[in-house]
Amino acid sequence: MALFLLRYFMAFVLLLISACSQANDVHETRFIMGTLVKFTIAPADRHENIDVAAAISAAANEMQRIENAFTIYGDQSNAIKTFNATAPNTAVALPEEVASLLQRALLIKQQSKGAFDPALGGLNLLWGFSASDAPTTPPSAEAITKALPPQHCIAQTSMANGKSGWLRTDTRCLLDFGAIAKGYAIDQGIKILRQHGIKNAIINAGGDIRLIGKHGDKPWRIGIRHPRQQAEMIETLQLEGDVSIVTSGDYERFFIYQGKRYHHLINPQTGWPAQTAQSVTIIARNATLADAWSTAVFIQGKKGMAQQSQFNQQVLLIDQSGKRFGSLKPR
Ligand code: AMP
Ligand code: MG
Repeated sequence: MALFLLRYFMAFVLLLISACSQANDVHETRFIMGTLVKFTIAPADRHENIDVAAAISAAANEMQRIENAFTIYGDQSNAIKTFNATAPNTAVALPEEVASLLQRALLIKQQSKGAFDPALGGLNLLWGFSASDAPTTPPSAEAITKALPPQHCIAQTSMANGKSGWLRTDTRCLLDFGAIAKGYAIDQGIKILRQHGIKNAIINAGGDIRLIGKHGDKPWRIGIRHPRQQAEMIETLQLEGDVSIVTSGDYERFFIYQGKRYHHLINPQTGWPAQTAQSVTIIARNATLADAWSTAVFIQGKKGMAQQSQFNQQVLLIDQSGKRFGSLKPR
């Protein structure tokens, strides 16, 4: 209850701060998916035909619905948790929305040669970075080896009734959409804003962004956080139209143990945090893709960058020594 009140109090304070800072924009901040999600609507969309407050509220509710549908944390049941509890090789039906995001995730797993893997739930729970009590020590090497799922352990199959279903081949295989669901939620939030007539807006979920339209007669200004200096930007961009820009960083959820940084981006081959980069930012045509690929390239490191131009995506990678590779400027 106290946490609940604190979240709403924080949202209220942020709403006041942001409302004061930009008089002509409409800002609202909500706590969703473990992060502050900021909605900004440009002045052009503030007219009597649009109920901006109702639009933001509908978008926020949709994003909360997605969190509830995809999370593997908390007490509420959902299809993912049910799937993760089924016996191996037992086919179950998944809601169309879940099956569709799973198919998109499995394609990115294939394209990234396994770097992005939506079946790491067991390992992620073991590391505990998304649990309410943040971890301070790594799990034992034995526990990690035991939790490591086989490389291919989720399959689409037909069920006894002839309909399509899904199964896991191994109990170590637990679905976790933590690296893609936030992007999907942002995309759905933008879709709802558009359905309400909004054409110029930003949804910023803790630095993961999709923007549409313009900010008055100018582009939107977007800052990319420095992975080591919290208040500093490594890049500021002027963007307009429809752009999604998402960062995965080793500073988001981490602890230092015996002088070494342990973070939440796990190499599926080893079960340990990837030692490849400090941050990876991707610009893509939607936030679902930008979210999944920022995680994938973080795991792949520099060797994952070349492929991005094939997808018409831009990438900026900050390596472990703080050196920049790639560029977010449109080619
Ligand atoms: P993001 O912050 O979008 O990069 O996502 C990080 C979250 O995705 C983690 O908290 C885990 O839940 C999950 N995750 C960690 N490593 C991977 C991986 N290699 N592939 C897919 N999901 C991962
Ligand atoms: Mg991601």
